[in-house]
Amino acid sequence: MKKNILLIHTGGTISMKEDVQSGTVIQGGENPLIAQGQLLEDLANFIVKEPFQLPSPHITLQEMLILKQIIEETIQSQPIDGIVITHGTDTLEETAYFLDLTIQTDIPIVLTGAMRSSNEIGSDGLYNLVSAIRTASCESARKKGVLVVLNDEIHSAFNVTKTHASNVSTFQSPQYGPIGIVSKRGVFFHHTPNFREAFQIDKVTKKVALLKVHAGFDSTLLYSLAEAKYDGLVLEALGQGNIPPLAVDGVKHLLSKNVPIVVVSRCFNGTAEGIYGYEGGGKQLKDLGVIFANGLNGQKARVKLQVALEDSSIRNDQLESIFHPFL
Ligand code: ASP
Repeated sequence: MKKNILLIHTGGTISMKEDVQSGTVIQGGENPLIAQGQLLEDLANFIVKEPFQLPSPHITLQEMLILKQIIEETIQSQPIDGIVITHGTDTLEETAYFLDLTIQTDIPIVLTGAMRSSNEIGSDGLYNLVSAIRTASCESARKKGVLVVLNDEIHSAFNVTKTHASNVSTFQSPQYGPIGIVSKRGVFFHHTPNFREAFQIDKVTKKVALLKVHAGFDSTLLYSLAEAKYDGLVLEALGQGNIPPLAVDGVKHLLSKNVPIVVVSRCFNGTAEGIYGYEGGGKQLKDLGVIFANGLNGQKARVKLQVALEDSSIRNDQLESIFHPFL
């Protein structure tokens, strides 16, 4: 029997066309994914929604919240078996992780996108859309959290990241790999995410910054964040979570204003931990009260800090345990 799929289009290259004259990829006119007719109808019954049509660099947490609300309202009022969201690839991992943290459902939620627009040679959009629909229709995709499907691979929202600016195999899960594959014969999972997290939010109001630490990074921007009344900061620190000595005073200043600071590693493999005892070393930062995130990249730690700060049931002194779900 055909499954009922909620299909939400949000924009991105998957719904764009290349202008042959100028060679630029543009959004405009009817979304080419909507006019697929029989091809998609053979796969499932669809409820199609298009709340906005934005390139994903234009997507903010407000749009992510709209998606959460659409999904929650639709699954409460209709018998939905799976959800597919088409999205620009630049910020796809952030939307996927936001939805993973904020929607509690066993129904599969699958995000997909494309690296080549609809009329380009080797366009991957329709193919990825079909793979995402097949995954969302699959019984074994239930209870796995939000999934990202492109290029025949199924990734978890927690681990996946865009790794290449233009290659179709851009979505990877560094260190862990995909959790399943989509083949011509079926959808197969070889791993299962072993924990879920749930936050209650109905607004996004906090200001959370993400800064990348580099050789010679100092306190200037950290003082500016305090001045601009930021509510939280994620630092993509060096190696296992170290910063230059000149930045330590800025960290102390933000902490003295009760601005939580989460540290991740700017390396895309491994986790940041308080190991080094020298000035600016992770051990010193941890002793000062900086929180070390467990294996998240910077952009996803930022989403998580924002979501945690928006959840009124969470106190700031609980943030550390939230960023260490394995401990
Ligand atoms: N810049 C595009 C976007 O994220 C890239 C894509 O969709 O692949 O909207």
